[in-house]
Amino acid sequence: MANTKQILALNRFDARHAEGLGAELESLIARRQATFGASSVLVYERPIRMVRAEGVWMFDADGRRYLDVYNNVASVGHCHPRVVDAIAKQAATLNTNTRYLYDNVHDYAERLLATFPGELSNIVFTCTGSESNDLALRLTNSFTGGTGFVVTETAYHGNTEAVTAVSPSSFKTHTVPPHVRTVPAPDLYRHPTNDVGSRFAEDVTSAIADLERNGVKFGGLLVDSIFSSDGIYADPAGFLKQAVDVVREAGGLVISDEVQPGFGRTGSGMWGFQRHSVEPDIVTMGKPMGNGFPVGGVVTRPEILEPFCATTGYFNTFGGNPVAAAAGLAVLDVIEDEGLIENANQIGGQLRAGLRQIAGRHPSIGDVRSAGLFIGIEFSLPGTTDPDAAAASYAINALKERGVLIGAAGAYGNVLKVRPPLCFSRDNADLFLETLDAVLSER
Ligand code: PMP
Repeated sequence: MANTKQILALNRFDARHAEGLGAELESLIARRQATFGASSVLVYERPIRMVRAEGVWMFDADGRRYLDVYNNVASVGHCHPRVVDAIAKQAATLNTNTRYLYDNVHDYAERLLATFPGELSNIVFTCTGSESNDLALRLTNSFTGGTGFVVTETAYHGNTEAVTAVSPSSFKTHTVPPHVRTVPAPDLYRHPTNDVGSRFAEDVTSAIADLERNGVKFGGLLVDSIFSSDGIYADPAGFLKQAVDVVREAGGLVISDEVQPGFGRTGSGMWGFQRHSVEPDIVTMGKPMGNGFPVGGVVTRPEILEPFCATTGYFNTFGGNPVAAAAGLAVLDVIEDEGLIENANQIGGQLRAGLRQIAGRHPSIGDVRSAGLFIGIEFSLPGTTDPDAAAASYAINALKERGVLIGAAGAYGNVLKVRPPLCFSRDNADLFLETLDAVLSER
């Protein structure tokens, strides 16, 4: 079996190969290395000097246009004029912390909470998905008294110390710490079963039992409801339900990380957990929330928030400030007014059907799976389910040469992540399908 990959290593530019890229790129890369140092992560064999973006298109310094099939931050479209205008107007009017009363911040909180099941009636605003998950872990600790968490094997939930501990895909040299257990992703492709929900629930049961056996009280299950970094596992809708029941029976909380699937991407409602007909105890959000303006949030029940706030002073300087709220409100307006959830459903369906046709012509594609505009294309060695990371890497770089930007996921880096802005059109989808077909035919 191929080596597993650390998520930031996927499609990463190696600075040792900067020579021959031309004076301008070489100089920018050198400046970056000198300042960012070891933390620099650039993508592509030949990094792109990006200068602007609009809708589903990004433009480099030479004016070359790229179709963005990759980006769930600019989720309603790059530089959407309504979001840009809302941010600019509010920034020119008032922008400070949340310690005063503001109409637009409260409008936003109410509008957003109205998209959740009724019991999830409190929101804490943050600036990033990492902060949201960090707070979710703390809320879980304080409510349950448990410090143990169960996550999937290739999960990514963010970058704080506590959240890195529950993000196995970030580990380069170490394994999970003693308070964390991992369960395999609900992978129907490599491990077929008639009942993926039971299998996932059994794995969660064993993980909880193992924590307790080792003297760690169970706190909760933290799960990305579309399993993005694990390789995108969406179907059958509803398979999470049994695991949720298991967690509740064990006295734990269910945290649904909606940083990736949230805000309509799955094409059947605002939230990924809705596809599974479950009601989490805590929901965390980030990336698409402000269409690029840093907005994040944690939604939960008052009874979970209260004990934490009784013992801990929590304040977030930038979280939910009036500019963040203006961006967030504009995003909700655009999703609604442009029918982006239905668009994700329609165009997602078109892409899935087209990709399955392409898979029939190219045996290196082992599986295509999706919900709305979140699609995984899994590359395997023909005739097997053994991961073919080289094929994914080839496709990523060859697509880029033809003006299409895409990324990879999965434990082996062999799953292409099709995750375009939600305003992706029929023509955009056709262009992507044609280009992928051509690139694979050339290999
Ligand atoms: N959760 C998931 C599922 C994510 O994909 C990410 C970011 N890739 C995060 C949390 C962390 O979000 P941020 O980078 O905004 O801190």
